[in-house]
Parts: sequence; C-alpha cells; structure tokens
Amino acid sequence: MLKLLFPWLRLKTPNLPWYKRLYIYVESCLAIVMMAWLLWLFVGLHLVFSHSYSYGKLVFLTTDKIKQDRLDLLVKRAEAVLSKARIKLSDLHTTVFLERGDFYYKLSLIPGMQLINHGGAITFRKYIFLPNANIESNRVVYKNGYTTKLSLVLAHELVHVWQNQRFTTWIKPSFLTKNAWYIEGYAVCITDDPIMHDKALIDKALKNIENINRFHKEAYALWGLMVKHAIEKMHKSVDELHEGKVSYDEVLSSLLREHNITK
Ligand SMILES: [Zn+2]
Repeated sequence: MLKLLFPWLRLKTPNLPWYKRLYIYVESCLAIVMMAWLLWLFVGLHLVFSHSYSYGKLVFLTTDKIKQDRLDLLVKRAEAVLSKARIKLSDLHTTVFLERGDFYYKLSLIPGMQLINHGGAITFRKYIFLPNANIESNRVVYKNGYTTKLSLVLAHELVHVWQNQRFTTWIKPSFLTKNAWYIEGYAVCITDDPIMHDKALIDKALKNIENINRFHKEAYALWGLMVKHAIEKMHKSVDELHEGKVSYDEVLSSLLREHNITK
C-alpha cells in the first residue's frame, strides 16, 4: 500500500532494469501531481477562499467579503426555484466556492474544466464552484459573453447536489457519462432555464440531433426539453428517469414526433 502511494520507494529494489526504473519515475510524477492536487483541494482552496458565510446548512466560501443580506437574497431565490420540484434546501449539504473572477480557469482547479466551453459552475460531489459570480447584480457572465442569473446557476448546481445525495449511483461528472441527458436535463427543466425557451437554439439542436455538441448549451436545451417531455407527456417519474429506466432514444423519438420531425 505504502509503495502504491509512494512509488519511488520501489527504486531501492536492487538490479532494476532501466524500463522498470523509467516506469517508476513516471508513476512517481503522477503520484506527486495527484497529492499536490488533493492538498490544493482540501487545504489551499480554503486559504484562498478565506471568507465564510452560511445559510442554513449551506456554507459559502468567498475570496472577497460579501454582504450577508445579498447572500440571503441569492439563496432565497434559488430556494424558490427548487421548491417547485419539492427539493428542500434544508436537506442539502454542500460548500459553495463563490468567486467574482475567472480564478478557477487560471488555476485549472478541476481537470477538464476547460472542456465546458460556456464555462459554468461545477458540482464536484459536495462542492459547488461558482466562477464569474456577481452577487450584487445576481448575474454570471461567461467567457463567451453569455449571461444568466446567478440564482439560477446556483439552483441548477443544487439540483445536482440533490441528485447526488438521492441517487448515489453516479459520481462522475455528468458530461463524462451517457446519463448526462437526464442529469443535466432535469436541472435545466426544474430551473426552467431560459435556454429551453430559446427557439433558435432549439431549432439548431433539433436539426443537428445526430451530432449534437454535448458540451454546448444547445445540448442542455434539448435535454431539458426531453426531461420535461418525459415527465409531462410520457408520465415518467423523476425516479424512473434517474434510475435509467427511460431510454434516451425512446424520449427523443417521442419528442421529435411531437415536433413533427423524422429522425
Ligand atoms: Zn449541470
């Protein structure tokens, strides 16, 4: 076990062939990077996000001082969105790292974060990361200029926390799994995200259905519509969706039929 965590200990073995040595060097580098990253995640992050606030069981860590009443207002707005899906804020345990600039991008805190080209928030198990967050104006401005309500992004991420607590079967970031359509779709649907009402975006998604870019908001808009359709028109339950009992193709075909589009 010790040698697995500290691969360089194995270098002491006598008569190691050169390729085994090389392999140990590579493994050691990876182990050091991993340890530094974990150290950063659990210690460094808390040093940079030095201001702590709370609202119920939610903890907010920020880089700058914020006003408690603005935070209360923000969470109350998110709470109102969640209550429509009967998700109780008091059931959710999470720490929110809230930051005004693009700090996360610069430091590449989460591997693969840059993959998300609209640069949104990330739920990482019990952590939520909210970059570009302006608590005064309740806005988030993304790198590509797209702007949305901060309370909506917070509500979206809290839906993921709820999903994670209730359906513990998925722990990977949703964009890496084939379940993305209902994990993201449910968060989009519950928060009634404006992207679901963006006709041009929906048309683009429907025309490009076979090669949809799953990292782009057109996919999120489509998935949101699919989940809404599955619940309202196909009378599927939220549990059935999250337990993977409803197939992507089944919902998509039904949605396309409603829009009179043949695949
Ligand atoms: Zn999401």
